[in-house]
Parts: sequence; C-alpha cells; structure tokens
Amino acid sequence: MKKRIFSGARPTGRLHLGNYLGALQNWVRLQDEYDCVYCVVDIHALTTLTDTGAIQQNIQDMVLDWLAAGLDPKKSILFVQSHVPEVTELSTLLGMITPLGWLLRVPTFKEKARLQSQNVNYGLVGYPVLMTADIVLYKAEAVPVGEDQVPHLELAREIVRRFNGLFGDTFPEPQAKLTNFPLVVGLDGKEKMSKQLGNHIELALTAEETPAKIMTAVTDPARRYRNDPGHPEVCNIFRLHRYFSARPEDELSQKCRTAQIGCVECKRVLAEEINAALRPFRERRAQLAEHPQEIRDLLVDGADRARVIARETIKEVKQKMGLA
Ligand code: SF4
Repeated sequence: MKKRIFSGARPTGRLHLGNYLGALQNWVRLQDEYDCVYCVVDIHALTTLTDTGAIQQNIQDMVLDWLAAGLDPKKSILFVQSHVPEVTELSTLLGMITPLGWLLRVPTFKEKARLQSQNVNYGLVGYPVLMTADIVLYKAEAVPVGEDQVPHLELAREIVRRFNGLFGDTFPEPQAKLTNFPLVVGLDGKEKMSKQLGNHIELALTAEETPAKIMTAVTDPARRYRNDPGHPEVCNIFRLHRYFSARPEDELSQKCRTAQIGCVECKRVLAEEINAALRPFRERRAQLAEHPQEIRDLLVDGADRARVIARETIKEVKQKMGLA
C-alpha cells in the first residue's frame, strides 16, 4: 500500500510560474510514489472572497492547468472540496475539540484580520480546522509543504493529537513532506510571485504574450545604461534563467557582469526559453480546453472516489464521538 498524501489549492484560475515551480511540478512527481488526493479548496476561497461569481470558471481554468502539467486522474484523485460535503461535517466535529485560543494565535489569521478588517468572518478563524478536516478526512499521512507552511500543519497535528487522545487512535498525524519548493519572486523583483500582486507570468500565456510580460520585469537597478556592468545575483530575471537555461551561472552571468548583454536581450532569451519549455504544456492545455465537459466529468468522478473514503471516516468519527 502506498502512503496517502493530501494537498489542496484555492481556485485562483490560470496558474503562474510560481505555482508551477513551487508546487505543481512536485505534485506531478509525487503521483508515482504516493496515493495522491488533490483538491480544489473552493470553500476556503470563501473566507477571503467577496465576489464569488468567478469561482466556477477559476476551477475550470486551474484544473486545466493541473491536467496539462501532468496530474493524472487515473493515478490521483482530483476533486473539488465542496463536492464532498463530509468535509464540512468533519470540520464542525473537529471544531468542538479545538480550543479557540489555538486559532486566535495563528499568525496568518492575525494578518488576514488586519488586511480585511471589514470582513473578519468565522471561516477565517476556523480556517485551520477546515484544513485539518481536509487532510484527515482522507487519513492522509503526509502533506507536501514548503518551510513557511510547517506551522499550519503543526496546528493540524495538534488537533489530531487531541482528537486521538480524547476518542482513541483514529487519524494518522499528518507529516510535513518538505520539498525544496523554490520561492519564485515576481516581476517586481521584490515579492513572491502572486496573482493578487499582478507580478506573475501565467503558464497559459501565448508565445507572443510571454516576452511582452517579461519585458515589464524589474532588473538590477544599478544597470541604468546599456554599458553599466550588471549584478546577476540581485536580478530576478537571472533567477528565472536558473530554471530554464542550461548553464546560466557560467555564460550569462559573465556577460551580464561585463555588460556584453543588455537587459532587453537577456529578457528576450528568457522568454524564448520559457516558451520552449512550456510549449508541450500549452499544446496539451489547448486540446483539453476544447472538451470542458470532460473536465467536469472527471471532477465528478474524483468526488465520487473521495466520498467513498470520506463516508467511512465520518462513520468512524461519529461512532467514536458517541453520535452513532
Ligand atoms: S543582463 Fe540579465 S541578468 Fe543582467 S541585470 Fe540585465 S536582466 Fe538581469
């Protein structure tokens, strides 16, 4: 039996390079080693969304990217969180054993409460409980995370320990499966690449849109004129070359330092490399996009498979909590 892992992503629509390099390519690799459950966490999205009109289109767009990148519904369970309502039932039950103090001290709750002070909803503070329910509903043993997400998982582990302590061993304590997720910096050269900040490069851009987008990137601020020597170590375009070029450390770095290459040329080369690397992804995505009903059908099938596991877990939890 393979170990089971769970991971989820909010329906943010078309994914960007940061999503791909930071998580999606890892999810694809994990499919051969683990029994993978990958979920579009649409209920989580409601904690910060005020306009929900785009959720369905965003789910479709994101799942298209998942499939085009290599997530395979024959190997993994791919589904939408709200299609398996047992998760909200489990979240309610776990909420009964989770001290409020644990939730109020979560740094991301404090941060979100600050950022959306006009909408500090119950879902925002209960987010870690729903996240725990997401994971343990499928009795996942591991969750692929980056270093920055380890504290979130630690809270899930605390909730699991408390439940198991009160009602007997029920859930495995989910382990962090740490991966070397690169933190991909956005085109502003400062913040993590993010759709919200608008500093991202979408995977599904056309071959023409890609260079236009990359030309907007901030580079080494010391290179004000073409003949100024550059400092690739502070330049985000150079960081991106590391993912797509064969040997940027040797040749490109030297050319930048000695001003043999200008930033416009350097960006053009990067755009060509990204276009070449993403060509198979984009071709596959275009084919898949012609059959939207097939995407909907595979999500229905994924939810059916997920519910088989979810119902068993809920039955056991209710029995142990004295509800059945
Ligand atoms: S030449 Fe390339 S690596 Fe050097 S500063 Fe310009 S964009 Fe960055």
